Amino acid sequence: MDVRKFYEEQLAEWPEFRQRVEQLKEVTLREFKINGFTIQAQFNPARAVSSGAKLDKASIASRKCFLCGENRPTVQRGLKMNERFTLLVNPFPILREHFTIACDEHRPQEIKNSLSDMLDFAQQMPDHILFYNGPRCGASAPDHLHFQAVAKGQLPLEKEWRKAEKRVLSEWNGHRLEQLVDYGRRCLHAESERKDALASLFNQTYTQYMMMEGGNEEPRLNLFAMYEEGRWHLFIFPRKTHRPTQYYAEGEAYRMISPGAIDMAGVLVLPRKEDFDALSISELTDVFSQVSL
Ligand SMILES: [Zn+2]
Repeated sequence: MDVRKFYEEQLAEWPEFRQRVEQLKEVTLREFKINGFTIQAQFNPARAVSSGAKLDKASIASRKCFLCGENRPTVQRGLKMNERFTLLVNPFPILREHFTIACDEHRPQEIKNSLSDMLDFAQQMPDHILFYNGPRCGASAPDHLHFQAVAKGQLPLEKEWRKAEKRVLSEWNGHRLEQLVDYGRRCLHAESERKDALASLFNQTYTQYMMMEGGNEEPRLNLFAMYEEGRWHLFIFPRKTHRPTQYYAEGEAYRMISPGAIDMAGVLVLPRKEDFDALSISELTDVFSQVSL
């Protein structure tokens, strides 16, 4: 599967997309160290549409779904990944080689019966890390099942999980579920060379968090999956809430901070210059403690 070739073709044939990818190279960054871990703040005005999106049911129902084939611009082509999903370039990229993998059918964002697809894509795209935003914590299309992917090597999490102290929660025959200690937000890591074993570790966690939330909806979570040296790695960020109190504040206290998976992995996307300039370690610590379980 030549994902890079497809990406290059879309760059060549879609000027607006190419322009946003070029702009991404000029993006301003600030780096913060918290307990030895890195948070990179990214000032990215093009993301205001997504960060500021109204996500209530009525607003979602009244807009045209941008992931449905009939609403996509004709210049946006797709690459079939399997019988259910199509790879698209993300026209509003946050990071290098940013893709969306959309279900061919308009159906709700839900991980339960799609984790196996996500793991397949991670294996099919070994140079990329896959991610998933739950319908109530970061997905800007909670009504249309999709994953995203970016080129490996851009997220602080990718390096940090190896050196982090870990507490093993479950382990058998080389399949392992563990929790990162002192990471500033809750993060679980599962790894296995077997897809079914990883799915079972995930289901165990999913059920536990669903019971903690006390409802029958999908528990709030962000996921990352990657494939390396014959093994899958899955990272789970259980969430308490999607947006921090600052998002709902008025006047000076307002911040357009709307964390999804990428933010949880260490790249905080800020569409407004004033939020980017004012950001401090104490505010970062506060935001992560509010949104993480
Ligand atoms: Zn749709």
